[in-house]
Amino acid sequence: MFNLIKSKALNVSWQCCGATTTQFNVKRLAGMTLSRRLESSSAREEVYDIIISGGGMVGTAMACSLGMDANLEGKKILLLEAGHKKEMDKPPETYSTRVSSISPGSATLLSGLGAWDHVMNMRCKPYQRMQVWDACSDALITFEKENLQEEMAYIVENDIIVAALTKQLQTLTDNVDVRYKTKVVKYNWPKCYQMADSNPWVQVSLASGEVLQTKLLIGADGPNSMVCREAGIPKVKWNYDQSAVVAVLQLSEPTENNVAWQRFLPTGPIALLPLSNTESSLVWSTSHQHAEDLLAQDEESFVDAINSAFWNNDNHTELTETAGSMFQTALSVLMPSGAPTRQLPPSVAGVSPKSRVMFPLGLGHASEYIRHRTALVGDAAHRVHPLAGQGANLGFGDVASLTQILSQAAFDGKDVGDMQHLLEYETDRQRHNLPMMTAIDLLKRLYSVNNVPVVLLRMFGLQATNSLPLLKEQIMAYASR
Ligand SMILES: Cc1cc2nc3c(=O)[nH]c(=O)nc-3n(C[C@H](O)[C@H](O)[C@H](O)COP(=O)(O)OP(=O)(O)OC[C@H]3O[C@@H](n4cnc5c(N)ncnc54)[C@H](O)[C@@H]3O)c2cc1C
Repeated sequence: MFNLIKSKALNVSWQCCGATTTQFNVKRLAGMTLSRRLESSSAREEVYDIIISGGGMVGTAMACSLGMDANLEGKKILLLEAGHKKEMDKPPETYSTRVSSISPGSATLLSGLGAWDHVMNMRCKPYQRMQVWDACSDALITFEKENLQEEMAYIVENDIIVAALTKQLQTLTDNVDVRYKTKVVKYNWPKCYQMADSNPWVQVSLASGEVLQTKLLIGADGPNSMVCREAGIPKVKWNYDQSAVVAVLQLSEPTENNVAWQRFLPTGPIALLPLSNTESSLVWSTSHQHAEDLLAQDEESFVDAINSAFWNNDNHTELTETAGSMFQTALSVLMPSGAPTRQLPPSVAGVSPKSRVMFPLGLGHASEYIRHRTALVGDAAHRVHPLAGQGANLGFGDVASLTQILSQAAFDGKDVGDMQHLLEYETDRQRHNLPMMTAIDLLKRLYSVNNVPVVLLRMFGLQATNSLPLLKEQIMAYASR
């Protein structure tokens, strides 16, 4: 299947340049000769080996990762970010509304980049357990590391991740240039290899009027990626009928707060993610209208709505309760060790001023992650529903994969923008991202339905999965990468 993806991608890139295979090779050689000529003849013109467009969590990690790679030493790398530089030595007093659940795999990547120590020195909350349950039945699933000794994941403010990576980037000034408040307004790709006077590189036009050139453009410019759009890469995308309301919440009493909670309501999932012993972060996905109402409510009504969403059982029916308890009894006889240990989430007492914000949710997937001298990473390539807390983690996985492939290419003395190794990147990441995206979308759909047969089906599925430790371990291992 992935060979198919590979050959499809190759076809697209050939068509894009209007060449056959033989022509392609001849033209590529001609292009390479020309490119060397152009490079030497006009030293004045800025030709970067790699330009990364977009310095969010993923683009900044990409810049660090490439800048630290020994095989890429001496390459000219530039990071362009439209926003301002996010610097901090210590965290602000109040928690930021935007947080991410960072998997152990992403933490390992950030650690390898030297940024994880900065995160730990600033602020980060590990959790050891996760409980997910259905509001329409008693079904629940828990995930935990053995004896609660290991961290399952970490809740970190997005700004802290970017600040930690930025700090690390400052130690790489020999390898990586960074320009903040620098917006890209246009990209131009070389039209054809055969045109003697054509420029072989991708041109990046800035709002200032300056035009830069690069052998490889990495689009890390988020879900509305201009790189993806202007490269003509088709995107499968749709908006969900939901927005996420996020906020910083105060708990009614201090607790160890080492559990991430998520309950699937008929209107969408509500999650409570630990920030400290007294505070948690809310991610409540619900209808757009309800989200607007939640934003408009006074603090007391908002807090009541959250507690009620976690605690009340109005959506239970007699049938689901009876069927659920019979099925659970049967499971506990068959698998005595698999019985769920239900915990109750902490109750919420308040919300931090001005921390309530809403985001419309959607899915987006670029059908190709690469084009001629171009690669997409992070939300520019894939955008997912936050119910599994995977968006940024998938992006960090892209960073690890692309770095490894470009490093090998540089080691082999190849052109970093060459299609052959970019194809390896695309295959590697689509193999991981597509199943994950499909699973997240299916979960979103499965839990948006309230009719009894579907509720019963997912109740049995959830209870059965919860009784199978090996299956749960596999799910955890997959989500932890
Ligand atoms: C409510 C919510 C909760 C979430 N929770 C989680 C979670 O728990 N775990 C998780 O892993 N993920 C989570 N995500 C997803 C995660 O936030 C995203 O996947 C992640 O932020 C994507 O990062 P990015 O760097 O790819 O894109 P972005 O963060 O969108 O960054 C893109 C950057 O590109 C810059 N840019 C754009 N255009 C230009 C231009 N023309 N010129 C220059 N710069 C440009 C922008 O200024 C921006 O800085 C959540 C998302 C939401 C909405």
